[in-house]
Amino acid sequence: MKSGLSNSILDAIGDTPMLEIDGVYCKLEYLNPSGSVKARIAKYMIERAEDEGLLKHGDTIVEATSGNTGNALSMVAAVKGYRMLVVMPEGMSGERVAISRAFGAEVMEIGHFHVDEALAKAKELGNEPGYFCPSQFESEWNVEENRTWLGPEILDQLPEGVVPDALVMGVGTGGTLVGVGQAFREVNPDVRLFAMEPSESSTILCGEVGEHLIEGIADGFVPGIFQRHQKLVNDTLAVDSEEAVGEMRRLAKHHGLFVGPSSGANLIAARKVRESHPEIVHVVTLFCDEGEKYIQDHFAARDEVKLTAENYT
Ligand code: PMP
Repeated sequence: MKSGLSNSILDAIGDTPMLEIDGVYCKLEYLNPSGSVKARIAKYMIERAEDEGLLKHGDTIVEATSGNTGNALSMVAAVKGYRMLVVMPEGMSGERVAISRAFGAEVMEIGHFHVDEALAKAKELGNEPGYFCPSQFESEWNVEENRTWLGPEILDQLPEGVVPDALVMGVGTGGTLVGVGQAFREVNPDVRLFAMEPSESSTILCGEVGEHLIEGIADGFVPGIFQRHQKLVNDTLAVDSEEAVGEMRRLAKHHGLFVGPSSGANLIAARKVRESHPEIVHVVTLFCDEGEKYIQDHFAARDEVKLTAENYT
């Protein structure tokens, strides 16, 4: 679509830019249609399901999500004419609910903050006739997309002769870390994979579940994908939520990148990896979603004094 005319916004998914910030290669996945990295798995999983005959005209797609996959699937459903039911916990940003609704989806809010109750509900409905549940936390199609599409795209964008030494990524489903990591292993068998999680909810490392500000990762359990592929992952590191939000603000103010907290957290973690491992030079991370999804929670300047012609100095 970049160089031609199309009749579908789904053709504009992918081919996102990559920037080098603080010596880290940052893939700008927030620039995908629907505002996140999840546009890729949404398109990929739905088209695989169509090819396999699991999803047909008149069916309803149902998925549990903390929001971005719901937004992305809602966009895909709108383009392809499916009904969409997004099942998500209460306590996610209001924009995520609004965006899915804007795409014509129905949104069921169930449970609080963590996705487990939503997951059980989506699974139950997914077994009913006329429903299809992509199951992003379990599905190998999620991993497959990242291995065959996003991963190779990143490798193509790296400077001539550069192979990644490390990939640093927050874990929601684990699909990005594992799938992109598999693609990287094909060009560098020694590439190190680092899973990032919020220090307030260190589930992989300590089995702890807590509330945090990095929406989209650490959903309250260790997902099936991560469990199945855990052997590929070398290390886990934690980032404090407040620091992630601060870094998110810095990325907007100093780099013009309007991204969400997980992007800030990924960059903090990537810098830590470079600083603590002198042998690791080429580090890749992702900026997963757009700041527009957090305006009410983190950017709305309600308390600031309104600037007028009279009080401007
Ligand atoms: N950051 C954000 C903002 C996300 O929405 C997600 C996915 N939920 C991730 C990171 C993690 O991606 P993955 O599910 O592939 O682990």
